[in-house]
Amino acid sequence: MQALHLLPVQYEESPEIWTFITFDPLHHEVHFLLKSLELNHVELEYAPQHFTTGLIVDGDLLRNEYFERVQLTDSVVDLGDDIEEPDFVEDSLEAEIARSALVNLFEASLVEAVHRGASDIHIFPNEDGHVAIHFRLSGELETWYVEKYVRPEALLAVVKDRTINVDRFERESGQDGFIQRKIDGTLIRFRVSVLPITHTSRHAKFESIVIRVLDDRNVIARLDDLGLCEEDLAVFQDAIRQPTGIVILTGPTGSGKTTTLYAALQEITSPKRNVLTAEDPVEYVIPGVRQLRIGHKLGVGEALRFILRHDPDVVMVGEIRDKLTADLAVHVANTGHLTFSTLHTNDAPSAVTRLYMLGIEPFLVANSINLIVAQRLIRVLCPDCAEESEEDPDILNRLGFTKKEIADSTFLKSGADPDCANCGGIGYSGRNAITEMLQFTPEIRRIIATTDRFLDEDGIRNQASKDGMSTLRSNARNAVLRGETSVDEMMRVIGTRAI
Ligand SMILES: [Zn+2]
Repeated sequence: MQALHLLPVQYEESPEIWTFITFDPLHHEVHFLLKSLELNHVELEYAPQHFTTGLIVDGDLLRNEYFERVQLTDSVVDLGDDIEEPDFVEDSLEAEIARSALVNLFEASLVEAVHRGASDIHIFPNEDGHVAIHFRLSGELETWYVEKYVRPEALLAVVKDRTINVDRFERESGQDGFIQRKIDGTLIRFRVSVLPITHTSRHAKFESIVIRVLDDRNVIARLDDLGLCEEDLAVFQDAIRQPTGIVILTGPTGSGKTTTLYAALQEITSPKRNVLTAEDPVEYVIPGVRQLRIGHKLGVGEALRFILRHDPDVVMVGEIRDKLTADLAVHVANTGHLTFSTLHTNDAPSAVTRLYMLGIEPFLVANSINLIVAQRLIRVLCPDCAEESEEDPDILNRLGFTKKEIADSTFLKSGADPDCANCGGIGYSGRNAITEMLQFTPEIRRIIATTDRFLDEDGIRNQASKDGMSTLRSNARNAVLRGETSVDEMMRVIGTRAI
């Protein structure tokens, strides 16, 4: 049953009147519940669901009913190997009970992941042969639950069984599927990846399951909220307001490219503009944008040809992954449309090399791109428990801090206080984007356009720094100097190589 969000909001003493709100005042269960409270006088008022949800989230009143049921059960009956037999449940009451406990555990993990804002759920057997459920929180895996009483295959089978498009009996190859659930009144989508893995201690065929949580509420709507430094934000705002040209976001998986891209699209979307995207898969739904799903029936090349006949103003090509997509992105930009896309490279200048290596003519690269943004996400120190830190001057020096900065600055580290109410002992709360903005100035275009056989990546880098580009590394250093993050976090995200 869906939660009714019945909340007491006011109490008057004489005469005694209790006021409750709910988003569904006509629901018979609401009246049943109120009656069961045996209060003298009760008034019931309507409140919109987003309002009641807000109160529940702010007041930390969220419940995970599935997990409460899991905690009530002492232990789950071991299903043994029978779980793999197609007819295993028919005559076994114990297996039925165990199965429903595992279903509760799995459903609880979905609800809990959404409540905690996890980006992914990982389910796989640990070294002891126990199946464990982990959440990726702010970029790092944290163990949430270890199930010791059940063979891993049993929980893995339940997960596969409840995933659309996944065959429970296929255990030799990788599979992709999806799940949808309504959690706290919001439809949440989950993308599931199943892979066969080997395990040291057993001969069993184990699998690893990773579930990406796609919660549209987590897509940041405003560019201002990404945590970009002022200069970079101004450069980006300018580039996404040009009538034509390509804006590329680059970085490894998990660097927040999609979030930034979506924030940019939301910023420039208006009823007066036709914004079209070609994505594989569509991860988040953006209001006001027409998003095409690329799949086996509609390839990216075909999709973009359709898009050009669909009167677009702004086009997003999900990812440039080969010559075809690169050609098409350039073509869309050169036919007078603002174009967005992503690439997988370490920094902004190497994105130019990647496009050149894909076979795009240098003069096309030089003239069709407005801006390349390399991005990383850096965890922000918890303001409540961060502590001062003595850092090794040699390491700081290697990371590019000047002698003066090392002498004059206070460095902070994560306090990771296990009792901290703000961060719960993680030591960090939230993440900020740090970026490197390669603007295509006339000089940069000239260097690229005059490429003969080898693209002068270092030349681009040098010119960009003359033009005022702050690198990922220098922006990370600034975040450390502002006390926003720690030296450890800088090294985790950027690495320790000398510049
Ligand atoms: Zn804290």
